[in-house]
Amino acid sequence: MKSFLDEVNRRVNGVLLQNCFHCYKCSSGCPMADAMEYNSNQMIRMAQLGQKEKLLKSSAIWLCVSCETCVTRCPNNVDIPRMIDVFREMALEEGYPPAEKGVIAFHESFLNTVKLNGRINEPIMIASYKLKTGSYFQDLVVGLKMLLKGKLSLFSPRTRNRTSVRRIFRRTSRS
Ligand code: SF4
Ligand code: SF4
Repeated sequence: MKSFLDEVNRRVNGVLLQNCFHCYKCSSGCPMADAMEYNSNQMIRMAQLGQKEKLLKSSAIWLCVSCETCVTRCPNNVDIPRMIDVFREMALEEGYPPAEKGVIAFHESFLNTVKLNGRINEPIMIASYKLKTGSYFQDLVVGLKMLLKGKLSLFSPRTRNRTSVRRIFRRTSRS
């Protein structure tokens, strides 16, 4: 039977996690490290030690914003964002409830917007998230300020070939 580490490596399909020598360069550049109970270096160590349940139940795997700073800084090219995506996939497949409230609603809203437009449309994504969670007034003031400063666009452009994007979604969908 495959170990947890073997399965994560298979799904990451890149540099093996065993190549990490724990230099900590990834975590020291991570903008989310302070908010995570386990930083990227610790997550790799936990995967190496087979601490599957602890990892899949953590908030940390849902707090990564996929900025790729870690993989850019890593001397061994360990693909940490991809590794964290794998943890998320496994957590959902195996029924671990996400430790961060509303994260699935956000994830689905994000993906549905990309499926619809071929790229992200923030107002549609936010509206979809709010409908799913009922959090209509949360961040309203911040949203209005962003709109006034031109940080949110009501009319984001769409990708021309949206049929191809939908085909990718169909082919990679789990259901
Ligand atoms: S930067 Fe790379 S080698 Fe260093 S701890 Fe992070 S993943 Fe491991
Ligand atoms: S991709 Fe995730 S883990 Fe890596 S630096 Fe960004 S937030 Fe941190």
